[in-house]
Order: sequence, then C-alpha cells, then structure tokens
Amino acid sequence: MTKIDLSELSIKKAHELLKTGEISSRELSVFYLENIKKRNSDINAYLEVFDDVMEKAEKIDEQIKEGGRFSELTGIPLAIKDNILIKGKKCTAASKILENFKAPYNAAVIDKLEKEGAIFLGKTNLDEFAMGGSTENSAFGATKNPYDGERVSGGSSGGSAAAVASQMCLAALGSDTGGSIRQPAGFCGIVGFKPTYGAVSRHGLIAMASSLDQIGPMTKTVEDAEIIFNAIRDCDPMDSTSEETKNRKSIRRPADDSQKLKIGIPKEFFNLSGENKGIDNFVSENVFKAIGFFKNSGYEIKEISLPSLKYALEIYYVIMPAEVSSNLARYDGIKYGFSKSGENLLAGYKETRGKGFGREARRRILLGTYVLSSGYYDEYYGLAQKARDLMKADFNRAFTDVDVVLSPTTPTPAFKLGERTEDPVQMYLADIFTVSANLSGVPAISLPCGYAEIGAKKLPIGVQFMAPWFEEERLFSLGKFFEENF
Ligand code: GLN
Repeated sequence: MTKIDLSELSIKKAHELLKTGEISSRELSVFYLENIKKRNSDINAYLEVFDDVMEKAEKIDEQIKEGGRFSELTGIPLAIKDNILIKGKKCTAASKILENFKAPYNAAVIDKLEKEGAIFLGKTNLDEFAMGGSTENSAFGATKNPYDGERVSGGSSGGSAAAVASQMCLAALGSDTGGSIRQPAGFCGIVGFKPTYGAVSRHGLIAMASSLDQIGPMTKTVEDAEIIFNAIRDCDPMDSTSEETKNRKSIRRPADDSQKLKIGIPKEFFNLSGENKGIDNFVSENVFKAIGFFKNSGYEIKEISLPSLKYALEIYYVIMPAEVSSNLARYDGIKYGFSKSGENLLAGYKETRGKGFGREARRRILLGTYVLSSGYYDEYYGLAQKARDLMKADFNRAFTDVDVVLSPTTPTPAFKLGERTEDPVQMYLADIFTVSANLSGVPAISLPCGYAEIGAKKLPIGVQFMAPWFEEERLFSLGKFFEENF
C-alpha cells in the first residue's frame, strides 16, 4: 500500500501517481470520503455527499487499466457548488424554495468534467442563490472556516473553499458573480479563479445575475486551476454569451518580449505610499510584501488610476439586484418543488415566495424591482449601466499601459460568524475589490499571500490579479511564478 501523504496532493501530482499506478482513483476517493466523515459535521461544507462515488471511482480505475481515456482529470475527486446542475442529483442553491429540486440535465461544465472522467464527491454549501459573502445566507446553516471555527468561510462559494482547504476534496467548482470564488478562496487560503465573462458556459448554472455570473475552479495550486479551466472553457450554443476564446486578439501594451510584466496598482484600491484606510493592517502588510516581491524580481510596479473603481460597489448593488429580481421571478410555487397555497393565485405566490426565500433573497428582489421600476429606472439602473461602460473603458485604458492589475482580494481576513449579518452594508464591503472584474468581465485570480495572526489563530490573506479579457494565460504564468517563489 502507498505511503504517500495524500493531503499534499495537487491534481497534477495525483495524476502522475495515477499514471504510474502508485495510487488508484478508489484510494483517492476513500481518502476524501473519510475526511468528509470526520470533518463535515463541524465545517458544514457539503450539503450532500453522493452515494455512488466508490462505484464511479472503481469504473474509472478499470478504464485506466484498460488503456481508455486518461486525462489530467481522470479519477480526480471534485466537489461541486450546489448551484450547478448534475443530472438526477438534488440542486438546491441553498434555498428552501429548491429544497427537493432534482436536476433534469447536466450543466455544460459537468458534461465536460464527466467526459474527462472526474469523480464528483458531492454538492457544496453556498449563500442562498449565491447571494452573500459568508454562506450565512444558506438555508442549511453556515460553513465554518477550517482555520477558525468561529469565523466564516467566505461566500458565496464558502462550501467549496472550505472543502478544498480541509482536504475534503482535491479541488472544486464555484461560481463568481461579484467575488464568490475569489473572496472565499482568500479567506480559506486557496487559489480561486474567475474566468473572463463568456469563457465558460453558464448553461446549467442556476442564474443569479446573468451578465455577471461565471463558473470557475477553486484549487490548491495555480496549475490545478489552469487544468480545470482548460477542461471547462468552451463556446456553447446553449449559452449565447459564451465566446470562442481561442485565437482572440487581446489588448497588449506595446512592449518588447524581453520585458517582464508591468503591474498596475489602482490608487482607488490601494495606496502605495501611505496608509490604507478601510483595509486591515495584516492585509495591507502582506499585500505590500507581495508588491515588494515583484519589485525585487524585476517587475515594474506602477500606480495607476481607474476613477470608476470608486463606484464599483454602488454600480454592482444596482445592476446585480435588478438581474436577481428578474431571474428569481421563475420560482412561483408552480414550476419548482416548494409550494404554498393561498386563497387565490396571488396569495399563493406571496406565501410561496415569502416562505421559500430567505431574508437576503427577499431584500435583493425588492431592491431589484425598485431600481427597475418605471419612475426610477433611468435614475438607478440606467445610470449604473452607463457607469459600468465607463468602468470597462477604464480597464481598457489601463491595460494599454500595464499587463496586470494587482489589489488585495478582500479588505479584511475572514470575519466572525454573525458579526455582519445584521448590517448588509458591512457585508457588502467584503466585495469592494472583487466586483469590478465581474462588472467589466475581465478574468481575475486570488492567490494566498500570507496570514493574519490573531491570538493563536492564523487566518489566510489573498492577493488578487486581474488581466485583460481572455488573457487568462497571463494570470496563470504570473500566478505560478508567485506561488513558487514568494
Ligand atoms: N458577495 C457578493 C454578493 O453578495 C458576491 C456574490 C457572488 O459572487 N455570487 O453579491
């Protein structure tokens, strides 16, 4: 039997061991299932663990033995956020309104991962319909941070982040509408990657805000994120906003090839020469260290300005609820499971939606219908759309001067459970650095860059890099260099 420390594995390493026959997919799956048994009751990362894992893993082992398809994801145990459909399995979006909903088909990304022979361990917890930054909005209880059980795992993909960080899977899928992959990745000390809007099909992802949603990997290493991204990226006729990403011309600043990447730091996010108000000291210290590392490695660091970033949260919290209110209109008690009756149709709707949706979902539906209502449409939604265009133009301009943009992932490390639940604005502030990548559509990655030491606890801190549209490769190569040498 093997003496390999399975907790040290990345997808890449596991693949090499599967190739040489030093481990089997079965052994890998047993390892994660046992960890789930030990840890999930404390952490609450999984909403469901599948009962067909061993059967699938054994089939894959057979397939490998017989010389069948064997890619880097064959036999790799993954966790899937519970807003991504897997045919025949429950998909709840952590909402009571979908508590018993079974997916009638596979999401496009699931079809792709299945074709690669990946094993799905189960479905992970999230904020209801991916709305939140802590998983405290889940109808099925919050996910705790593996580094400190009194703190949040982040959100909305907190279950996926905690599962990766606590060895309950080898890697996971999350979704990111305003930071939901990157923020929990930052809080849990893992890699979180949001692809360019349109690079990955959204078909079969339960919609939150359709012009912002993207599916992406949450992994232990940058290389693993790249492996998953390459497996799931595609132009899909079932998602009209997905795009052919190969052979795209992207923005490149005029530079000779020998030059190292030029890194821009937006002064609206991070002050290079002084105090950073609103940012936790541990976070700014560690981000300064990361910047210093790049400087010492010969990268050019430049302060830049993207004036629209000042309004990022305001723009996001108008556009996002507008789209949420329209996407969530379909849960009417007729088409999907949960249903309460009333004395007439309207009363039935009210009962169903009033009882089926949690507080935050109801808040955002109300906000969204308000900003879209005829008297206020121009003042709120129309204006926010214009500001969003300005933001895209700002990024376009910035990327003719610098190759990547760096910022903290979040202003603070993981906060305490319950600390922000009564104050939505405090909760929304956790998204201040992440929403602009969704509003503009650019790809962004969060990488671990140190720890905050609070008492006896070490809390992870993330640093974020953004690149021009469809230049994910740039983030992977920079990310690998950082991961190996920082
Ligand atoms: N925390 C953000 C929100 O509450 C982001 C959510 C997401 O990316 N799904 O909207």
